[in-house]
Amino acid sequence: MSDGRGTTAVDVLIVGAGFAGIGMGIQLIRRGRDSFVIIEQADDVGGTWRDNRYPGVSCDIPSHLYSFSFRPNPEWSRVFAEGREIHAYLRACVREEGLDDHLRLNCALSQAQWNEDDARWLVRTTRGDFSAASLVIATGRLSEPKVPLIKNLDAFGGRWWHSARWNAKVSLVGKRIGLVGTGASAIQILPRLATEASEVVVFQRSAPYVLPRGDREYSREEMERFAADPGTVTALRDELFAEAERNIGARQRRHPDIDLLRQRALDHLTGSVHDAGLRGLLTPEYEIGCKRILFSDDYYAALQFGHVRLEPTPLNRIADGSGGKRVAVAAGGNSYALDVLVLATGFNSTRPSIAGHIRGRQSRLLADEWSNGMAAHASTTVHGFPNMYVLDGPNAALGHNSAIYMIETQVGYVLGALDHLAASGADALDVTSEAVHSYMRDIDEMAQDTVWVQGGCTSWYRDERTGRVTLLWPDSATSFRERLATFVPASYEHLLRRRR
Ligand code: NAP
Repeated sequence: MSDGRGTTAVDVLIVGAGFAGIGMGIQLIRRGRDSFVIIEQADDVGGTWRDNRYPGVSCDIPSHLYSFSFRPNPEWSRVFAEGREIHAYLRACVREEGLDDHLRLNCALSQAQWNEDDARWLVRTTRGDFSAASLVIATGRLSEPKVPLIKNLDAFGGRWWHSARWNAKVSLVGKRIGLVGTGASAIQILPRLATEASEVVVFQRSAPYVLPRGDREYSREEMERFAADPGTVTALRDELFAEAERNIGARQRRHPDIDLLRQRALDHLTGSVHDAGLRGLLTPEYEIGCKRILFSDDYYAALQFGHVRLEPTPLNRIADGSGGKRVAVAAGGNSYALDVLVLATGFNSTRPSIAGHIRGRQSRLLADEWSNGMAAHASTTVHGFPNMYVLDGPNAALGHNSAIYMIETQVGYVLGALDHLAASGADALDVTSEAVHSYMRDIDEMAQDTVWVQGGCTSWYRDERTGRVTLLWPDSATSFRERLATFVPASYEHLLRRRR
C-alpha cells in the first residue's frame, strides 16, 4: 500500500531472500499475515546457494536435515545435495508457498531509520521507500567474501576470484591454478579443479580436521518410499538430528567424546595419506572442532595427485619472477608461476556491512552498537533497535548441526514477538540493555570451556576484536530451541508512538 508520497507501507519488511528470509516469509503467509515484503539485492532468491557456484559446491549437512521441517522434500537425490539442487528447492519454496508477490528483487537496502514519532522503520532502497512496523534482517553471515591481504594482488598477471564469485567464463583446462585456503569451500573445490588443471598449488595456512563424508545417491526405491510415506522422511530427519546433536559433547570437551572424534579424523588422515611428510603437514595443530570440522571422501586423494602440491604456508604476495613473469610467493618463500588464483578465503562474518546502514533510536548506528562485537538478546533483538529482528546473526550459528533448525527457532521467536506486540496494545518492543547483557553473560559462560574458546585456533565463530564467541551458539541446537521457546515480554520496554 502506498501513502501517496511513494512510500509503501507494510507490517513487516524482510531483508534478504536466502533460507532465513524465505523461512520467515513462509511462516508469515501461513499465519495469514500478508502485509510484508522481502527485499533482495540480487536478481534471484537463494542466498548462499545462489552465490556459491564453485565446482563441487554441496552441503555437508544431510539434505533431509538441511531443509525446512515444514517443507520436507522426498526428492533429494543424494545424502548431501549439490548446491544447485538446494537452490532449486528454495526457488520451489518461494513459488509454491506464494512468496513471489512479496518479493522485490534487485532491491538493495540503502538505509533503515527508526522513526520514534510513528514507531515505524523508514527503509530506503534502490527501488523506492518502505515504511514498516517491523524489520527482519536476514542477510546471512557468509555473504560478504573476504579477500585477505595479499601484497600486490592487483598486479597478478592472470585471473583471480573468490570462491563465492566463481568465474565460469574462464576455462581451467590445462591451467596452473593456485587455490588459497583449506576451509569447507576449498576442500570441495580441490577435487574438481584437479581433474581439469595441469597444476594445482594449495596454499594452506592451517591444516583442517577432515572426517569421511559417506555421500551417496538415494536409490529409486528409497525416494519412492519417502514420497509414499512422509513418516519415513520425518523419522530420517529425527535420526539425523539426534546423530548430529550427539556431537556437542566433543565441542564441550567432554571425554571420551572429543578423544574419539579426534581419533576418527586422525585415522581418516592416516588411512588416506601414506607419505609421513605430507601427513605431518596435514595434521592440525589445534583441538578438533575449534574450527569447523570438514567432511570429504576425496580431498586427501586429490592432494596426492602428481600435479597437485601442498604449500604449507599462506600466500603472501605477488612478485616479479624471472623473465618478468609474475609469481605467487608463499610466506615460507616458495614462489609459483600461476595462471589463475582461486581465493577460498571465507567471509566477513563478524562485522556485517548492513550494520552500517541501520539507525535505531536517537539515530544510533547498529555498527556503533556492535563496535565491540555483535550482541543480541535471544540471538535476535538489539537494544535501541525496536521491532527489529536479526536472523542468523549473533550467536545463532552452529558448528555441529543444521543451520536451518536454528533459523526455524528464530522465526518462531519473531512470530511470538509479533503476536505479543499485537495483543499488548504497544506499538513497539525495545529489548532492555539488561536483557542483552544478561544473555551475553550466559553466552560467555557457556562458551568458556568449549573447544571454540579453549581449542587453540582462530575462527570466524569468534570476534577478532575481543575473542568473544559472537557468531556461534555455544551449546546444543536443542537448548537453543528451549531457550527461545517462550517470548518473555518482561525483557522488553513497550513503546507507544508519539504521534497519536
Ligand atoms: P573459511 O572456513 O573461513 O576458510 C577460509 C580458509 O582460507 C581458511 O583455511 C583460512 O586459513 C584460509 N586463508 C585465509 N587467508 C589465507 C591466506 N592468505 N593464505 C592461505 N590461506 C588463507 O571459509 P569457507 O571455506 O568459505 O567456509 C566458510 C563457512 O561456510 C564454513 O565454515 C561453513 O560454515 C560454510 N560452508 C559450508 C559448506 C557446507 O558444505 N555446508 C561448504 C562451504 C562453506 P585459516 O584456517 O588459517 O584461517
